Amino acid sequence: MLRRITVLDTTLRDGEQTPGVALTLDKKLEIAKALDELGVDIIEAGGAATSPGEKKAIRMITGEDLRAEICTFVRALREDVDAALECDVDSVHLVVPVSETHMRYKLRKSGPQVKRMAMDALRYALDHGLKVELSAEDASRADLSFLREFVVDGANEGAHRICLCDTVGVLTPERARSLFSEISKLVKVPVAVHCHDDFGMATANTLEAVLGGAREVHVTVNGLGERGGNAALEEVALALSYFHDFKTGIKLRKLYETSRLVERLTGIPVPPNKAVTGENAFTHGAGIHAHGVLAHPSTYEPISPELVGHHRRLVFGKYAGSHAIESELRRMGLKPTRAQLREIVAQVKRLGDQGKLVTDSELGAIADGVMGRRGEDAVKLEELTVVSGNRVTPTSSVRVRFGDREVTESGVGVGPVDAAMNAIRKIVEETAHIRLVEYHVDAISGGTDAVVSVVVKLTDGKSIVTARGTSGDIIMASVQALLNGVNHLLVRRR
Ligand code: MN
Repeated sequence: MLRRITVLDTTLRDGEQTPGVALTLDKKLEIAKALDELGVDIIEAGGAATSPGEKKAIRMITGEDLRAEICTFVRALREDVDAALECDVDSVHLVVPVSETHMRYKLRKSGPQVKRMAMDALRYALDHGLKVELSAEDASRADLSFLREFVVDGANEGAHRICLCDTVGVLTPERARSLFSEISKLVKVPVAVHCHDDFGMATANTLEAVLGGAREVHVTVNGLGERGGNAALEEVALALSYFHDFKTGIKLRKLYETSRLVERLTGIPVPPNKAVTGENAFTHGAGIHAHGVLAHPSTYEPISPELVGHHRRLVFGKYAGSHAIESELRRMGLKPTRAQLREIVAQVKRLGDQGKLVTDSELGAIADGVMGRRGEDAVKLEELTVVSGNRVTPTSSVRVRFGDREVTESGVGVGPVDAAMNAIRKIVEETAHIRLVEYHVDAISGGTDAVVSVVVKLTDGKSIVTARGTSGDIIMASVQALLNGVNHLLVRRR
């Protein structure tokens, strides 16, 4: 049975409630456009009654004439519906608490009172020509007979869709399936599922709800959302098609780039081991795994990375074999001769014996050295000054050469390293749109004259590189790592 499942993305509403995320109008609009291109059916663009800025952002999105239905969050209040109408949205997500806990402690109202308010707001929205998705908040902890009444009354009143929210993420897959199969049988309109990931069950619960009869799923990109987050769009979309032939409008091959875009615009990093879109989702380190994957990818990959627009990556140490290294070089667009390859492998193994893992940018640098390809660096440090002490704000000024252009910038920070990195970061972000994702320091030897190795991860939104800088001076090691990574990304871009 091939069923088409509707996808409602709430990255711009529930996802924006992630602590630390506050999106500007432009960023909201950029994400909305990307979601539309990804193939999301419904975009919950925000809460119209939240703030004047939010209203403006939603109006900008509805003015874009996107293919997706644009929806806004409203409470069971006529003034919220009025705010939605001012934004010219297609539909409202009318969210009404239905659990005893929520009704008593949050609204200080009885069940019948809450239901009356809900039906009044529903009728009001329908009378004004809005499509309405009536959502039962905290449905998974609600009294079942009250929930049934609420859902049936809502459908009879004319709600176009009904949604059950697992607001605090306490469903289990079994309960999700039985709850949704029971509620779906009560009403003719589509039932949606809205899961949170407090127990790491959001994807599984969403999938089971669909098997129970839900026809719409609520998700966010990268699983953003309050606390443990919401069900992740990339996981749910992939799981629906991989395990059960359900169809969605999502273009799976755009998942990785959309994830990176949302990571960049929200500033919330995607963990490297995140399913589907994490940087390591298709990275193979151990020699045996790399060998297996090269012999046949299905040995250690459930799906091919291209399916979700990701890429396979191999990292190399002393276990690295020449096949693996050759294939990684080919991915970088390099074709060494046999003798060159032998020398590259030897250098990688030498570093491996010193306990180092060779990153992709280092492999590129080694290959460039061996193949005599090393051209001019795209970015070169001309001058760096750092001032630090107990009575000054750590401050740094840098001069960098970008091709034939010279850029000067200054930065402050919590310490000298931070100040230097901030100054360079400004240049790199503005001139090359490259962002620092991760920063990590290792001391290689002990003592105050220790040699330190700094590893950074950088992204330009399309790919991620890892680069290293090694020096007795921690500031120089940091700056070197950053510039190595930038050069590597810029060379790839050419
Ligand atoms: Mn939620």
